[in-house]
Amino acid sequence: MSVHFRKLALIGIGLIGSSIALAAKRQGLVEVISIATRRQETLDEARELGLGDIYTLDPAEAVRGADLVILCAPVGAYADLARAIGPALEPGAILSDVGSVKRHVHEVVGPLVPEGVHFIPGHPMAGTEHSGPSAGFAELFTGRWCMLTPEPDVDRAAVDRLVAFWKGLGSNVELMDAAHHDLVVAITSHVPHLIAYNIVGTADDLGNVTKSEVIKFSAGGFRDFTRIAASDPVMWRDVFLTNRDAVMEMLGRFLEDLSVLQRAVRVGDGPALEALFTRTRAIRRSIIDAGQDSSAPDFGRPHEAPPAVDTGFVREHGGGDDA
Ligand code: NAP
Repeated sequence: MSVHFRKLALIGIGLIGSSIALAAKRQGLVEVISIATRRQETLDEARELGLGDIYTLDPAEAVRGADLVILCAPVGAYADLARAIGPALEPGAILSDVGSVKRHVHEVVGPLVPEGVHFIPGHPMAGTEHSGPSAGFAELFTGRWCMLTPEPDVDRAAVDRLVAFWKGLGSNVELMDAAHHDLVVAITSHVPHLIAYNIVGTADDLGNVTKSEVIKFSAGGFRDFTRIAASDPVMWRDVFLTNRDAVMEMLGRFLEDLSVLQRAVRVGDGPALEALFTRTRAIRRSIIDAGQDSSAPDFGRPHEAPPAVDTGFVREHGGGDDA
């Protein structure tokens, strides 16, 4: 199975696009990378970082002659992008994407894909809260999952090539139905982001005095929510606009369970609380065992020793240095 592509076109070069560019180059998976963005500043930044070989503001120009095209822009931009690149796509090329929702992508892009082009949507389950071309790094996909959601009638050899490409970038790959993908990510990613946006927003609404205390005392739980809630606003707006059904279903279940938990707190049902917290701790353990997170305490954050304290204590023999 040849993983080698002649020309990779990346439409959008933020965190995900730049990470693909760096990893694909490092692993020797592509000969030439062409990059298209919407704004000149982003294109200049990508050029300064040396992420590709061809730079353009015209997505159609970027995809001309490409045997692999990956949309790496926010999902809300896909319909316009698909219309722009459609006529320039080469027969036999693979058209893929990295969007966080999949049914919507099939619905809006699928009908615009010309005959002879293999359309294989994808979603690498990897990311950080940082955005833009300088946020990328070649190791982003290592050991992470990438879901591909081709329709059943898509050319098998093309799917195998794209699977091999993502494996070459370091990912584990799973093929999945788009609707099932959307439900899975609704609970594993989208609802958690909504909860984080909500809790940070609530704290922000609490007024100035409390707010400064929230920031000052933001240890543990709240601080971890703020990391998630710092994720790109446009990307996440599009996620909730385009995965509404799955998010509503999972949110409904979440709210039911939250009511049960609320009652357990109100009536002081210690055994119920402890039973749930024990079950959830085991889930954290299994994520670490599956290699999907670090087992280091506090997510491996560096911890500095506190500054030396002058206790005023003088040793019997002068209290000098002890080295
Ligand atoms: P990002 O860092 O914000 O970068 C977005 C890129 O898309 C920029 O290069 C931007 O260029 C370009 N873009 C925006 N609007 C465009 C338009 N209308 N036409 C052409 N290009 C446009 O975003 P990202 O985090 O890489 O996310 C990109 C995609 O990956 C999204 O679909 C997202 O759902 C998916 N994804 C993200 C993560 C994550 O954790 N971040 C994880 C998995 C999948 P300009 O600066 O020129 O506008």
